[in-house]
Amino acid sequence: MTDYVMPTQPPREGWDLHCHTVFSDGTRTPRQLLEEARDRGLHGVAIADHDTTAGWEQAMHAAEELHFPLMRGTEITAQCGCVSVHMLAYLYDPNNRQISELFEKTRRARVARTKRWWSCCRKTTRSLGRVCLSR
Ligand SMILES: [Zn+2]
Repeated sequence: MTDYVMPTQPPREGWDLHCHTVFSDGTRTPRQLLEEARDRGLHGVAIADHDTTAGWEQAMHAAEELHFPLMRGTEITAQCGCVSVHMLAYLYDPNNRQISELFEKTRRARVARTKRWWSCCRKTTRSLGRVCLSR
């Protein structure tokens, strides 16, 4: 074990190397993210969406237009035995076939897991005799 404590707030100075956008589970477009980082006084950001490089192109255009430093990366989901781990990777070749296949495999597994979860929810709500799905 380490004494490292995971930060719960974005940094107030330097670089933020772990940012998500709407291309995974973030709430901001790449441009909005870069604008906010610039306005907060950061020196630069790395976008690291989950298992995708889909936001890289938008982020690169925004970085050029805003003259704001950007590092491209991804938060990669991997298995270590029976433990799921997330690794941050930066500046790799987005056209690498093995990486692209890994991302595709992870996305398919995520969709399958969501479908199983949804099916389980439907069975549970039926057995409870009511529907509690949001509107
Ligand atoms: Zn993350």
